[in-house]
Amino acid sequence: MAIHCSSVPSLSLKKLTIPPKPIASLFKTMNQSSNSKLRPSASSTATIHQVPGLDPDEVDHISDQTFQRYSSSSSRTGRGGLGTAVVWFRNDLRVLDNEALYKAWVSPEMVLPVYCVDPRLFGTTYYFGFPKTGALRAQFLVECLADMKKNLIKRGLNLLIRHGKPEEILPSLAEAFGAHTVYAHKETCSEELKVERLVGKALWRVVLQPSLRSSNTQNPKLQLIWGTTMYHIDDLPFDTSCLPDVYTQFRKFVEAKCTIRGCIKTPTFLGPPPSVGDWGCAPSVDQLGVHLHNVSKGMKFVGGESAALGRVNEYLWKKDFLRIYKDTRNGMLGPDYSTKFSPWLALGSLSPRFIYEEVKRYEQERQANNSTYWVLFELIWRDYFRFLSVKYGNSLFHIGGPRKVEHEWSHEKNLFESWRDGRTGYPLIDANMKELSTTGFMSNRGRQIVCSFLVCDMGIDWRMGAEWFETCLLDYDPRSNYGNWTYGAGVGNDPREDRYFSIPKQAQTYDPEGEYVVYWLPQLRALPNDKRNFPGKSYIEQVVPLKFNSVGKHHGQSMGLGARKTGFGGRQTRGCGR
Ligand code: FAD
Repeated sequence: MAIHCSSVPSLSLKKLTIPPKPIASLFKTMNQSSNSKLRPSASSTATIHQVPGLDPDEVDHISDQTFQRYSSSSSRTGRGGLGTAVVWFRNDLRVLDNEALYKAWVSPEMVLPVYCVDPRLFGTTYYFGFPKTGALRAQFLVECLADMKKNLIKRGLNLLIRHGKPEEILPSLAEAFGAHTVYAHKETCSEELKVERLVGKALWRVVLQPSLRSSNTQNPKLQLIWGTTMYHIDDLPFDTSCLPDVYTQFRKFVEAKCTIRGCIKTPTFLGPPPSVGDWGCAPSVDQLGVHLHNVSKGMKFVGGESAALGRVNEYLWKKDFLRIYKDTRNGMLGPDYSTKFSPWLALGSLSPRFIYEEVKRYEQERQANNSTYWVLFELIWRDYFRFLSVKYGNSLFHIGGPRKVEHEWSHEKNLFESWRDGRTGYPLIDANMKELSTTGFMSNRGRQIVCSFLVCDMGIDWRMGAEWFETCLLDYDPRSNYGNWTYGAGVGNDPREDRYFSIPKQAQTYDPEGEYVVYWLPQLRALPNDKRNFPGKSYIEQVVPLKFNSVGKHHGQSMGLGARKTGFGGRQTRGCGR
C-alpha cells in the first residue's frame, strides 16, 4: 500500500510481536514532568533555535550549489533493459555520495527508488518496552523522506513510499517491475541484518516473467553496498575480526594506512522514472502511530539532505565555527558549540566522506588547525563503533557487554523515572534530561554525565538508559548509542574506559555560571550564578547521594585518587566500580 498525501485516516500499525523480554514493558512512557516545581515559569526564555538557522531559500540555494559540485553530467543514452533496478533506501536518505543509487543508475535498467515505512520501527524497545522511535525522531524521518523525494524529483526521478515490511514490499515490486537487482546499503546490527536476510530470501523466491527479463536471470537478487563510514570497510588494514580493542590504536592504523575514498558523483539526470501509478508521499507523524510533539524550546532540527548540506555550509563557511571546534565542543548550550551533524549522519542524509571533503576544502581555503582535525577525529569514533559492531555483534546489546562483565544492576523504577523525567535533584542531570525529551538532542558532554550518573551513582542497568536514548535521540544509531553506553557502563570492549564523571566537577568546569541549567530549569534563575548548580534546599531533594561525594568548594573535597584525564576533551574521570 502506498502512503497517500491527502489526509488518510490514521493507518493503524499492527502491534508487533516482540521476542520475550526479561523485563517487558516495565515502565510507562515518559510523563511530562509531574512535579510542579519543575514546570518552567512563564518568564522562562523559551527560545527555539532552528538548526540550521537558515531560511528555506538559503537552504535550497546551498543544496543546489552543492549538488552541482557533486554532479556528473554523464547521461545514459540507450537504456535498453526491459527491467528496472530497485534502490531500497534505508539509513542512507541522500542523493549525494550514495553508491547504491549510483550502482542502480549505471545498470542498464530504469531506477525505482523505494522507501518502506517499516512498522517495526514504531514498535517498542527490546528489553524495557519504551517506544522504539519517539515523536521527534519520527518527525525528523518524515522530513528526511519529503526532502529526499523532492531532490529525486529534481533529478527526473521520484521516491516510492510504501507502508509495510521490506521483505513483503520489495519482492512484489521486483516481480511487478521485472527488477533483477535490489540495491541497498549494508547494515551491521541484528535487527537490520535480519531484515536484509528476509529480503534476500524473499527475492530469491520471485520468478521474473520471461517477457520482463532483460537478462538470463530468473530471480531478483539483493546487492548490498558498504557506505556508512568515512573509511571504507574494504580499505581497512585488518579484517574486522582483528579490529583493535583500543580506539587510539584503530585511529592510528587507519590514519597511517588508509585513504578515504572520494564521494560518488551522481548524474544530474537520473530519469526517466518507471511508470508508477501512485508514488505515495511522506507519511504524517500521526500515520506512524506517534503523537506529534512540537519542540517548545532549545534546538529544532530540520530533517532532510538539503538541511544537512545547509548545516555543513553554515557551520564551516558562513559562521566559521570549524576554526574553534576543539575549544567549544564540550559546550552544552545553543546550536554552535559543536557541529550538530549527528542527526543527519544517523539517517544517512549526510555522508561522512562529504564532511571529510568539506573539512579538507576548508583547510585549503581558510586554515588547518587542531579544530579542523578534531572533527575528523570524532568521525573516526563513529566509524570505530560501526566496525566494532561487526566484530562484536549482539554482545553490544547484552548486559555484560562485549567483555561479559558480571555486575548486579538495579531496576528500581522510581529512580529510573526520576532520571528519565529530569527530577533527580541534580540540576545538571535534570537539565540535560529535559533537553533530551524536549528536543531529541543532548550534547556529548551531557550524554557522558547522565550516563555516568545513571550507572555509577544510581547503579541502574545501563540498558535502561540506552533504550531511553534509543527512544528519544534524533541521532539514534545502535552502534554509536550502545557503543558509548557500554563504554560508560564499564562493560565496553576497552576495559580502560571505565569512567566516573563527577557532577560537581563537571558543573564547575562546563557550566560555571549555571547558564545551561537555568535555561532548562528557569526556577533556578533567581539564585546566585555559583549556586545554580548547587541549589541545596532551594531545589528538589536529591534522589541518591553521589558515589564519590567530591570536589571543590561546594563539597569540601578534591577529586582525589583514581581521577585521571583521558586523551580527549579534558574529561575528569575515574572508574565507577566494574
Ligand atoms: P560533534 O562533536 O560535532 O562531532 C562530529 C561527529 O562525530 C558527530 O556528529 C558524530 O557523528 C561523531 N561523534 C562525535 N562523538 C562521537 C562518539 N562519542 N561516538 C560516536 N560518534 C561520535 N552519537 C550518535 O550519533 N548516535 C547515538 O545514538 C549516540 N549515543 C550516545 C550515547 C552516549 C551515552 C554517549 C556518551 C554518546 C553518544 N553519541 C551518539 C556520541 C555523541 O554524543 C554524538 O555523536 C554527538 O554529541 C553529536 O553531536 P555533534 O554532531 O554536534 O557532534
